[in-house]
Amino acid sequence: MSNDYYDILSVERTATAAEIKKAYRKLAMKYHPDRNPGDKEAEEKFKSCTEAYEVLSDENKRKIYDTYGHDGLKNSGYRGPGSAEDIFSSFGDIFGDLFGFGSGRSTMRRDGPIPGNDLRYDVEISFMEAVHGVSKEVQLTRRDTCWTCEGSGSRPGYQKKTCPTCNGRGQVVRSQGFFQMSSTCPQCHGEGAIVSHPCNDCHGSGLVEKTKKVALKIPAGVDTGARMRLRGEGEGGRRGGQAGDLYVVVHVREHEFFKREGDTIYCRYPVSMAKAALGTTVEIPTVHGKKDLDIPAGSQSGQLFTLRNEGVPSLRGRGRGDMIVELQVLTPTNLCEEQKKVLREFDTLCQQHGQHKEEEGFFKRLFNEVLGK
Ligand SMILES: [Zn+2]
Ligand SMILES: [Zn+2]
Repeated sequence: MSNDYYDILSVERTATAAEIKKAYRKLAMKYHPDRNPGDKEAEEKFKSCTEAYEVLSDENKRKIYDTYGHDGLKNSGYRGPGSAEDIFSSFGDIFGDLFGFGSGRSTMRRDGPIPGNDLRYDVEISFMEAVHGVSKEVQLTRRDTCWTCEGSGSRPGYQKKTCPTCNGRGQVVRSQGFFQMSSTCPQCHGEGAIVSHPCNDCHGSGLVEKTKKVALKIPAGVDTGARMRLRGEGEGGRRGGQAGDLYVVVHVREHEFFKREGDTIYCRYPVSMAKAALGTTVEIPTVHGKKDLDIPAGSQSGQLFTLRNEGVPSLRGRGRGDMIVELQVLTPTNLCEEQKKVLREFDTLCQQHGQHKEEEGFFKRLFNEVLGK
């Protein structure tokens, strides 16, 4: 493997400071010891990319390295990034938003409350339920605080004992060359103490599986992808920590006749050729009931009609969207002899009235265009 700093970070020699920082963040996140406990190879990679970043992010060091290479750096007195603690204190701003801790990490209370995880629940509802809103009761099985031990994991009356692996520090330190790497203790997971007498109900985890009914009130107007947050309905906390939240993600089933875009509802309405020609009033089913719609004489297939306020209620409580009806003129099929006769007569009448002119004119123009005649 190359020990060239640019190769290690996979950046060009002309990379900007921002590009270098970005490349390092990506690698550091991947190989961070907290994420790869006990993985030697990841640890080595973490160290080498940190060293590469320390040099290339420093204008002076970078110039020396570019001109004289590794030996030049050594001659200038550079000794590598030092221990993991040093890495955290010098790059606190990078790690702070990366892992949720900064240089204050080592002072974090290890025996403090642990909040429960947030959970996600996907719920499927019908098109109409989304339009009108719906209350649903769902059964959730999730890990809840064990009330026998109050989430401590220890049998009532017993205390935890100091972790023998890290002697209560929560961190284990390994030395390698000039590096000192400290990482989270694999036995106590950084807590510094382990359960000596596990609680009978939760076997020391502090959490037990519980099934609970949760009432969901889904408001009118929701659409697929809407998220609702139910505070405290997620996984239970431990050692007095707060329960997590439950995020409900809504999925709306498609409707056979209605389509929806935002608060607007679309539907296609079939009408016979004769009715479209003569004009008629029809009853349109909407999501809110029935509505009369006047179809004027001579309406064409594909023509759109708007029914105001017959769409989906606005989630923000500001009125409703519209409903748009697309007319679909049906050409009659399976005609009997008498119907055919009437239609032929009708066609002749159209010709006499000069009503075929538009049709004929269209074809004349088309033939001229295509055949050049
Ligand atoms: Zn318990
Ligand atoms: Zn430990």
